[in-house]
Amino acid sequence: MSQSTHLSLVRQLSFCAGHRLYGHEGRCAFLHGHNYRVDIEVEAVGGGAEVDTVGRVVDFSLIKKRMLGWLDEHWDHAFILFEKDETTLAAVRVAEPTKYFVLPWNPTAENMARYLLEVVAPHVLTGLGVVARRVSLWETDEACAVATLVGRPGTSPMPIGSAVIVDTRN
Ligand SMILES: [Zn+2]
Repeated sequence: MSQSTHLSLVRQLSFCAGHRLYGHEGRCAFLHGHNYRVDIEVEAVGGGAEVDTVGRVVDFSLIKKRMLGWLDEHWDHAFILFEKDETTLAAVRVAEPTKYFVLPWNPTAENMARYLLEVVAPHVLTGLGVVARRVSLWETDEACAVATLVGRPGTSPMPIGSAVIVDTRN
């Protein structure tokens, strides 16, 4: 078989958020936060070594604008909480001002990476001619979870969520 080249881009993005792991047997069940880092890898919809007339898969700045724009609006400085974590959701609802995001899954690094890959990326990358192939979500400098799309991209499994922000300060 002859060799071929596959091109992709990786953009690093960061945000800060709080969470807790519902049902965790140790200290991750306490409310706490992380300086998260996301590495998102994208490739041309057609795959392979497809590039535009300038020679790019896509301009890095567009990945930053779309993906970091979404992260800033919905996850940065928010609590990201599992929809079944009723006591914590009740607590963040009475705290004002407040910003939280209800995730359909427990907010482990694995599930957050998966949500970014399957739900957020297809939404925010629409029209750019690229698909997200892989999302790595770093909780610390030493540990990350990796979600990888296998096969051709399909439709998003669920509608995208939104942060709930309650802030009555002018
Ligand atoms: Zn944590």
